[in-house]
Amino acid sequence: MPTYRSLLESLDVWFARGRDAAGPGVIPCRRACSACCHGVFDISPADAELVAEGVAGLPEAEAVALRSRAEAQLRLCSAQRPGWGPPWDVDALAEETFDALTEQLADAACPALTADGGCAIYADRPATCRMTGLSMDAGHAGRLDNHCPIQDGFPRYAALAPVPFDLMAFEEQAARHDEAALARGSRTTTLAGALVQ
Ligand code: SF4
Repeated sequence: MPTYRSLLESLDVWFARGRDAAGPGVIPCRRACSACCHGVFDISPADAELVAEGVAGLPEAEAVALRSRAEAQLRLCSAQRPGWGPPWDVDALAEETFDALTEQLADAACPALTADGGCAIYADRPATCRMTGLSMDAGHAGRLDNHCPIQDGFPRYAALAPVPFDLMAFEEQAARHDEAALARGSRTTTLAGALVQ
């Protein structure tokens, strides 16, 4: 079984394939555009470990600032859902409760966003972030639409056909990594929850 990092690289390859097929200048994703980096979202136990590794590798001052932003977002979560707290286990909430929370905090900036619009943990970002920005043709698993919130301003980008990806094979392997991460004590949590672990 590949390591979780190499499994995630298959998503990066998928995105690069879509970018190449689209041609130069069609996909507007770039550093400093943080349009899709808002809102509270859940990440898998394996992703939570990856994110925690990313924070551990940052210079101390950056890690402190990032954790501070994450703690501020988690206080907002707590205010909306009294009683929900560390370890910020999303599975401890009913699905509709978490869905309502994501709607209430849809405009909250991701705490990993830096002042210049970059991602402080780009090399260690979770799978969800790597799937954003293109539509995916997942074969029997269906189609995942591109949720870029500014794509209407880029008609050629918005009109791109979904890019094929074997999502079922990816998820099968990801599930094994999640089982192992769960056994090590990791949880399904939010990006902010993983940043403070
Ligand atoms: S982890 Fe990075 S790529 Fe993902 S939403 Fe946050 S800032 Fe954006």
